Amino acid sequence: DQGTAKATCSGNEQSSSRPNVSEQESEPPNEGNGSKRRKRDGRIPLERFGWKYLSVTNLSQQAWCEQQVVYGMELPHIQQLREEVPVVRAGSCLHLARELEVHDIVPINVESREDSWAVKILNLLSMIPFLQAGEHVRELPVFGELEGILVVAQKKSHHLQVSIYKLLFEAMIKGQLNKDVLTQHLHLQTEQPLGSEVLVHAHKVGFTVNTFGDLLDLMLLNLTYAEILDVDTMTIEYCHQADASVIGTEVVPFEEEWVKSELKHYCSFWKGQREAKGVDIEEAWKCRYCDFADICQWRQSKSEEATQKNRANQSK
Ligand code: SF4
Repeated sequence: DQGTAKATCSGNEQSSSRPNVSEQESEPPNEGNGSKRRKRDGRIPLERFGWKYLSVTNLSQQAWCEQQVVYGMELPHIQQLREEVPVVRAGSCLHLARELEVHDIVPINVESREDSWAVKILNLLSMIPFLQAGEHVRELPVFGELEGILVVAQKKSHHLQVSIYKLLFEAMIKGQLNKDVLTQHLHLQTEQPLGSEVLVHAHKVGFTVNTFGDLLDLMLLNLTYAEILDVDTMTIEYCHQADASVIGTEVVPFEEEWVKSELKHYCSFWKGQREAKGVDIEEAWKCRYCDFADICQWRQSKSEEATQKNRANQSK
């Protein structure tokens, strides 16, 4: 029986490190003045969006269209309807159903941001014995520092995404994750006592800890000395949303050089080293499915460039 209890946070601390950009800026977002406003604002995108870390999903969404990610943060009201689309809801339900196949969900009331991270760490610790036994687990939390930015794991499949999971996971089990990476990026206090429900849950799953720092030390020791095997195969499984049947699988080759160079490129945007890019002309078909197509300045400038080129060619 591979069943474990996976804790989920309730309470008001769980999303406090990811405020929406519209809560951060004194000037309300405006469809027409995006790039001028960005230039006037001296902060790098991570600070401007009030983020302390990136999710793996953020990085892989950039691979689709970086400009779309920026609009999604600056103008969430335009994209909100998409999140209500039934197909998206069906995907989330399917994820949950598959997660419930391997563990029960236990709600935990959290009292601090350290508690929220403690719950993630307890889930990770509970999965280590299964990893040691070579069994499979679902929704394993992985995190670490890539290109100087803290990156945390989330759902959804993609070549880049699964490759980043492998990179982060293997750094964690090889002792390359540093305690300071979490505490400094997220401004968490190691001496913070854990909340009562987190303590009860920790005790239930076999750990005696008092503070967030105790749990961090325990996690790093367990990860480093548990002799967990490296990820030798990465597979993406595609499921039919109506009945959850598997419709195909794809083995993803791990190309370390490619993943690292993609990461360097994507992270340079978040660190404010370059402007956001929209899609290239050969991928303009993506704009047909984009909520921001009507207001997208990148698309507009590319289409003006193409018109000018055509005129120049015709006048030759
Ligand atoms: Fe990206 Fe095209 Fe959407 Fe602009 S319209 S954000 S370039 S997908």
